[in-house]
Amino acid sequence: SEMERICIIGSGNWGSAIATKIGRNAAKLPFCHDTVNMWVFEEEVTLPESDKPVKLSEVINSRHENVKYLPGITLPSNIRAVPDLKEACQNATLLVFVLPHQFLPNLLPIIRANVHPTRCRGVSLIKGLDFDSKTKMPVLISKTIEEAMGHGFVCGVLMGANVANEVAVGKMCESTLAGNFGDDRINERIRQVFDEAPNFRVARIDDVAGAEACGALKNIVALGAGFVDALGLGGNTKAALLRVGLLEMSRFCQIFFEGVEQGTFLESCGMADLITTCYGGRNRKCAEEFAKVRLQDNAAEDFSIERCCELWAKIESEVLNGQKLQGTITLKEVHMLLKSRNLLAMFPLFCSIHDISFGGRGIISILDGISALSVGN
Ligand code: NAD
Ligand code: 13P
Ligand code: CA
Repeated sequence: SEMERICIIGSGNWGSAIATKIGRNAAKLPFCHDTVNMWVFEEEVTLPESDKPVKLSEVINSRHENVKYLPGITLPSNIRAVPDLKEACQNATLLVFVLPHQFLPNLLPIIRANVHPTRCRGVSLIKGLDFDSKTKMPVLISKTIEEAMGHGFVCGVLMGANVANEVAVGKMCESTLAGNFGDDRINERIRQVFDEAPNFRVARIDDVAGAEACGALKNIVALGAGFVDALGLGGNTKAALLRVGLLEMSRFCQIFFEGVEQGTFLESCGMADLITTCYGGRNRKCAEEFAKVRLQDNAAEDFSIERCCELWAKIESEVLNGQKLQGTITLKEVHMLLKSRNLLAMFPLFCSIHDISFGGRGIISILDGISALSVGN
């Protein structure tokens, strides 16, 4: 009766990678039902051996491979792709939210109506922020989930230096589970659902706000890393960017989230995730492409916000093949918030990344953003 029924909401690059860990753990752990449902946003894919399109969920279930979002990796056979959300989360006791955050709102009412009525919990792997429609203040996505689910639903987060393709092939890494799900026993159970010794080492902390805010904000800094790379600058410049980026992340947390602990920045979800995303992530990669196009473009002055948005969308679709860029969304929203609160001067790096990304400023001005801030001012 105390068995966990796990449902993964989302099946993109990270969703499929974490499914390899969760699937093997669910099979092994006595307190988990072996079968893990994974909700798939249905789409048609064309396989190399035929030109007839087939349903992605059917391909996942027959080949045990997400051929579109995580090609080349075999998923455990107890991972069951389910395109119907209601069916996927039926009676679930543990929800793993892992999809681009813009797609979440429509799903929550359906999820709420179908999970186990009294003992369901959640862990969000989503790196982004929500905003209160009235106050415009930033809201953690885990909090949005808790409110939408009601009934005292508890949602923690799993955030870390976890570029999906590296996790999927089993390269050693760490991750941070933030949340308090009830008591030590249940906290440990949930940690075990994700942890796969020795190559996926999950440590639990209490500070959900710190972990989640770091996960969202580092995507902004990663765009700056792409600009630095496109300029052909080296490791020292990148390090300067990371330092100032971390400083502004910490400053943002201090202003907007209560109770964020300094120690959180030293967990995998903090500095480590910032580093890996600025070297191997999709935000960095797309930003490098963006900067290359802009550096070739002579008419820098008339690079309007519309043209910026078009270029980001073009790069996202050409470079990522259906995967989603999260940093540009978070950047726009964070900039709007800082502007409305008259706080732009405290965030010179976020500002310069924004003005390059959406304001037509030259790529080289990233250096102004990096050099403007020291710990003392
Ligand atoms: P992704 O970007 O690889 O894939 C996009 C997903 O969105 C696909 O599953 C697609 O089917 C789905 N989708 C497209 N349109 C949709 C719609 N209208 N409704 C619902 N779903 C739709 O996804 P991902 O990499 O699994 O990212 C999920 C979250 O995990 C993000 O917040 C991301 O920042 C975070 N994350 C990603 C990585 C990584 O390395 N990929 C690592 C850590 C965290
Ligand atoms: P990207 O979305 O930039 O690839 O970041 C991946 C990530 O969050 C690694 O932990
Ligand atoms: Ca089991």
